[in-house]
Amino acid sequence: MDKKNIDWSNIGFSYIKTDKRFVSNYKDGKWDDGVLTEDDTVVLNECAGVLQYAQTVFEGLKAYTTADGRVVIFRPDLNASRLVDSAKRLEIPPYPEDKFIEAVKAVVNANKDYVPPYGTGATLYLRPYIFGTNPVIGVKPANEYQFRIFATPVGPYFKGGAKPITIKISDFDRAAPHGTGHIKAGLNYAMSLHAIVTAHAEGFDENMYLDAATRTKVEETGGANFLFVTKDGKVVTPKSDSILPSITRRSLMYVAEHYLGLEVEQREVYLDEVKDFAECGLCGTAAVISPVGKIVDHGKEICFPSGMEEMGPVTKKLYETLIGIQLGTIEAPEGWIVEI
Ligand SMILES: *Cc1c(COP(=O)(O)O)cnc(C)c1O
Repeated sequence: MDKKNIDWSNIGFSYIKTDKRFVSNYKDGKWDDGVLTEDDTVVLNECAGVLQYAQTVFEGLKAYTTADGRVVIFRPDLNASRLVDSAKRLEIPPYPEDKFIEAVKAVVNANKDYVPPYGTGATLYLRPYIFGTNPVIGVKPANEYQFRIFATPVGPYFKGGAKPITIKISDFDRAAPHGTGHIKAGLNYAMSLHAIVTAHAEGFDENMYLDAATRTKVEETGGANFLFVTKDGKVVTPKSDSILPSITRRSLMYVAEHYLGLEVEQREVYLDEVKDFAECGLCGTAAVISPVGKIVDHGKEICFPSGMEEMGPVTKKLYETLIGIQLGTIEAPEGWIVEI
């Protein structure tokens, strides 16, 4: 193996072209076998379904180098099944789950020189996605699609330690009841851009979205689920049909219960009770957990006892345990780690 000459610890989170990507096309009612290609461009008809009506869904996962030098991916079966759920909701033909995992492995294998070495904090990010390719002008689903997976190395999410962030209660809604909040679709991100640009301009790192119907319950941020820790050490995560089911969050809840012996609870969480929690974190593939130090509700501040300098103690244990599982220093539950 001949690693690329990249300054792994300083690459940040932006697209870097790698050698190979996987492409499969859907036509006449079936997915073809797919190929690995060097072609990083997509040429589409000007009226392609994805361009007109945003018919596209995606996934995100990472390949890691473990402490003993293996290259692994984390729970790709859950990405495969979530992509099926997302596709069905947008009338996109699902990509078969077994073929998804094979394609992910093939892309990692073909770009092994871009998997950052152990200890750099960097990873190889994988982006599977499906989009409607044929011309669609009347509002209806496309009948031809492309499934692609590209890989791009990304740097450590936290440079120089995980500093707690400050978030605001958004005045915008992310997801309607019975809408598309529970699927991983570009459309959910398009509508979040104005909200996040607004939050950043006001000096906040992220938005906390509330349930659109009553605006009293915690949902999630634009791209991460919430975890809270009560003062007596219970781990709580909001329950709602319009939250995206984060694989990181589901894994952390399992780790809390089965590795750390903590009580866990998935239930509706009211904004009113957030001030009573001891710790708060955001979970997703990108950062695993970003600690939240402060939540601002129209000038009213909720400051967690864990403060603005460090992760809270429970958040930190959760973070270190899951990272240890991913990097092979802590034994993983059956089936969580897939070796390339
Ligand atoms: C992808 C995503 C997450 C995080 O999910 P992971 O599977 O943990 O990466 C959370 N919320 C939203 C809206 C997302 O799109």
